[in-house]
Amino acid sequence: MNEVKSFNNIPNIRIVNNKKVFNCTQCGECCHIREKDKNISDKEEADYRQYMFTNFGIIYLAKLSDITINVWPEEAEALKKEAKDKKINIKILPKRAVYDSKNHELTILDYYIDHDVCPFFDAKNRLCGVYMHRPIICRSYPLLTTKNLGKCEYKLSNPNDYADEKFEAEKLEKMVNLQKSILKDLVDKGEIVIPESISVDEMENIITTAKFKELRIMDKI
Ligand code: SF4
Ligand code: SF4
Repeated sequence: MNEVKSFNNIPNIRIVNNKKVFNCTQCGECCHIREKDKNISDKEEADYRQYMFTNFGIIYLAKLSDITINVWPEEAEALKKEAKDKKINIKILPKRAVYDSKNHELTILDYYIDHDVCPFFDAKNRLCGVYMHRPIICRSYPLLTTKNLGKCEYKLSNPNDYADEKFEAEKLEKMVNLQKSILKDLVDKGEIVIPESISVDEMENIITTAKFKELRIMDKI
């Protein structure tokens, strides 16, 4: 595997439904956030991990069945603070990382909120409890998803009606591209080395022994 090519292979953000706008019916489905089925087999899990490393140079730090929405490092920090201020118990854990064998370091790319339902979801009023501080993935929903998670009502409309979500989705697209270019630059300069191949067992060992750090880019956008 060419390690520079692997970052270039990370899929770009795809903005969908960009000719439509949705009305929120406050069903709350998008705040029920586990992405995958709980019954993913160990083999499916291992195959997916291997695929993600082989093709994109990414190591998954979380079990696929646990994964929820992406939260960027800066957002993880801000949401933990919000939770503390609001006296809400929250678990935000690392989701994906890039492994640098030169320094035996894992650079965390993103986190996830480890709950079946987002702890900020106000079930009584069916509202987001951190609306002004909600993560960019929530701000751009549903323009970045190919499936309709809940009861969003779609209708054809003036593009200005979805301008806020589109702005957030395009910002997210810029963030992913910047993340890729920073990683590529580090590889090009030889500051990090991505191994040619890693088995799933080796990944487990790396996760327990490597040093962790984060790649923060939100303030550069
Ligand atoms: S942060 Fe708000 S919008 Fe996002 S999942 Fe949680 S409750 Fe829903
Ligand atoms: S799934 Fe759609 S309709 Fe339901 S709360 Fe989320 S945005 Fe609103």
